[in-house]
Amino acid sequence: MSFRIGCHLSSAGGYLAMGQTAGSIGANVFQFFTRNPRGGAAKPIDRQDVRDFLAYAAEKGLGPILAHAPYTLNAAGAEARVREFAEATMADDLRRLELTPGALYNFHPGSHVGQGTEAGIELIASMLARILADFGSVPSTTILLETMAGKGSEVGRTFEEVRAIIDRTVERLSDSASNIERATLNSRLGVCLDTCHVWDGGYDIVGDLDGVLAEFDRVIGLDRLRAIHLNDSMNARGAHKDRHACIGKGKIGEEALARVINHSRLRDLPFYLETPCDLDGYRKEIALLKSLRTA
Ligand code: FE
Ligand code: FE
Ligand code: ZN
Repeated sequence: MSFRIGCHLSSAGGYLAMGQTAGSIGANVFQFFTRNPRGGAAKPIDRQDVRDFLAYAAEKGLGPILAHAPYTLNAAGAEARVREFAEATMADDLRRLELTPGALYNFHPGSHVGQGTEAGIELIASMLARILADFGSVPSTTILLETMAGKGSEVGRTFEEVRAIIDRTVERLSDSASNIERATLNSRLGVCLDTCHVWDGGYDIVGDLDGVLAEFDRVIGLDRLRAIHLNDSMNARGAHKDRHACIGKGKIGEEALARVINHSRLRDLPFYLETPCDLDGYRKEIALLKSLRTA
């Protein structure tokens, strides 16, 4: 399998522009925000732009694209209007993503804001189950829960919490969906592992990557892992801070990140950089990572 590597790009110019930008910096995958990351309505979709992009992506072998939900989406919010915004936004994003089949959709599970982790997990799972059950068909998009650093009251700071959300969602789905749909819907639930977040969350991907992946496999199952956010971290392991650093400029370091992109259990996944870089910085990081990739 070829090395799938790219970065977060601005969606201001539309899909084709993102594809071309990705191509110009040596990327064959990319991530973008579905709408303003601080919230609000999404721009109307330009269908011609989507068609042009799909043709371009097919020609260049680009993908999968990873759509990132806005940061303001909090399925575990204490106020009903916050949770309603989360549900309406995710449902709308998934509907729009049907235009680009086979995409990944990543979201931060949420912050329980004092209601407790258990209550947070329940709110997130019930939202996911409702969205999937109400979708009308099996979405072509795979929804990814992002592993979080554990800042504030974030849910999804441990593999156990991520697993609990998935389990609870699947349980809820079984009330509403037929057998076949249930199996397919289940396959549309995955995880995106963010290297900065798991490091900040306390997992030692520097000293014991094999051990961390074995734990992921035991708790969640590596078959759920569908994408990697490849970031260095400004802070020490377990800091729960979530400050991304450029590759090789943080506490995780270039050697450890090279082991991540080359690990036999990870190397076939798509890798998305979210480092504090401009386009030229991304171009250099992608070139560096390609040079570190083993055959
Ligand atoms: Fe994220
Ligand atoms: Fe991330
Ligand atoms: Zn982050």
